[in-house]
Amino acid sequence: MIDLSDAVGFFRANFDTDPSTAIESPGRINYIGEHTDYNGGLALPIAIDRGITVVVGDGLRGTKIRATSAGQRSIVDIDLDDLVSTTVFDGWSRYLLGGIKVLLDEGYPIRGVDISISSDLQLGSGLSSSAALLLAVVYAITLHNDINLSRDEVVELAHRAEGQYAGANVGYLDHYAIGFAMPRRATFIDFSTMSHSSCEIPFDELLVVDSNVHHSISSGGYGERRRECERAAEILNRRFISGASVEEVQTIADVELRLRAMHVLEENARVEEVRNEFSQGKTGARMLLDSHKSLRDQFRVSCPETDLIVESSIEAGAEGARMVGGGFGGSCIVVGGDPSNIERVVRSKFASGGFGPPSFFIAALDGSLKRVL
Ligand code: ADP
Ligand code: MG
Repeated sequence: MIDLSDAVGFFRANFDTDPSTAIESPGRINYIGEHTDYNGGLALPIAIDRGITVVVGDGLRGTKIRATSAGQRSIVDIDLDDLVSTTVFDGWSRYLLGGIKVLLDEGYPIRGVDISISSDLQLGSGLSSSAALLLAVVYAITLHNDINLSRDEVVELAHRAEGQYAGANVGYLDHYAIGFAMPRRATFIDFSTMSHSSCEIPFDELLVVDSNVHHSISSGGYGERRRECERAAEILNRRFISGASVEEVQTIADVELRLRAMHVLEENARVEEVRNEFSQGKTGARMLLDSHKSLRDQFRVSCPETDLIVESSIEAGAEGARMVGGGFGGSCIVVGGDPSNIERVVRSKFASGGFGPPSFFIAALDGSLKRVL
């Protein structure tokens, strides 16, 4: 996380006043359970020590919303009265204003506000900077206006904002993963009942490798996979693929749809297995590798760069590795082995393969969504 004093300093530098509230919102790695959320399946995400800090203050005390984000060129400057009648947003402001707009839609009284955003979470890298930002904004704005929302409501509104105003028709994984995160615990989520519980993680940190191929959820592939899964569920005559049995899935005539559905069932089983391994103090590393292979061969959302990270990490002594997030680029997590050796091998494979350099960091698994000012 960005140091709170730096985040507050950034706010002061922009608005020349003192802030009243600051929220830290973590990124997440999804340990296992990929593309299962919108299929009524299971997932096991963990929040990390990188994320977004949103700082807010009274500003001009009128109806103006002013916002700035370190690293973004454009600033936001809009009157609340205009925001009420705006429904289409562009650029990064769709996350910020989307988060405020859902509160207005609910009829909550909102005052003008100054907002600064600081982040040490690479955006678009599959670590869920979008949901981290939305949850931070919704939480910060409700606190700023003395609106008392439960955590479930904050999560629900952040998810709604992402679909309705950010144009990203995503499942609930990221919003649950961040909104309900507890330090040093994984969140076990069952999307068929929308219920969650937490479980202990038998390790403190994970190696994260960003392919630096950055996807955008709103572009193409993700939406196509969602539509395929809806078609598969229709064929199965189920609300969600996850409600079907392996035997039922095997009757799907369309080979590609059958592969998508098979991934979902097998991935759900892997989530259960990893949770079980966690309870025995084990990492479930082999399950990560199987998950990656299934995302590559059955769900077809990996890319040459993430495949190479996984392959060369294993070659360098890792016990398991897989891509995380929606796919088509983004980051991988790596379990076991010597991180510096893995970094050396992956870097050299990328160079000889003619790919741009990836980035590496060790994530501590202690993130949670919280007020820090
Ligand atoms: P991911 O959630 O995997 O990081 P997305 O494509 O879902 O990738 O979301 C990335 C988008 O979220 C960015 O393009 C930007 O609009 C917004 N965003 C994330 N972090 C910030 C930030 N610190 N400042 C402004 N916008 C941000
Ligand atoms: Mg996102």
